[in-house]
Amino acid sequence: MTSCIFCDIISHKTPSYIIDENNEVMAILPKDMECFWHTLIIPKKHYENIFDISDDCLNSVSNFMRDLAIKYKKYLWATWINILNANWKDAQQTVFHLHFHLIPRFKDDKMDLWPKMEKYSWKQKVDLRKIRDKIMI
Ligand SMILES: [Zn+2]
Repeated sequence: MTSCIFCDIISHKTPSYIIDENNEVMAILPKDMECFWHTLIIPKKHYENIFDISDDCLNSVSNFMRDLAIKYKKYLWATWINILNANWKDAQQTVFHLHFHLIPRFKDDKMDLWPKMEKYSWKQKVDLRKIRDKIMI
């Protein structure tokens, strides 16, 4: 495996500001927080993206994120939470060790994390039923 900044942080080769951790998951504040208390949730084992992670570890990460969000609501007085994740380059993943961005939100914080996109109607171009039938198990 090539070098990975998150593996270096998890093994304490690279210092970071650790918020919380357990045997499988670590939460840190990135060096350059995008906003107040922007937090990265990182599985301690190296998984490149959501498609690589084991079910058990994904459950641990999910529970850890939810529990941390509850603490942020209580102790940071966050009123809302955004959880962001990118998988692969085309989805703007830049560090190829699975991670989630936990963004505490506050009333009138003026952030807009929802991308402005052209609306795509399900009536356009493609018969979505054929795709849906393939997706449904
Ligand atoms: Zn890694």
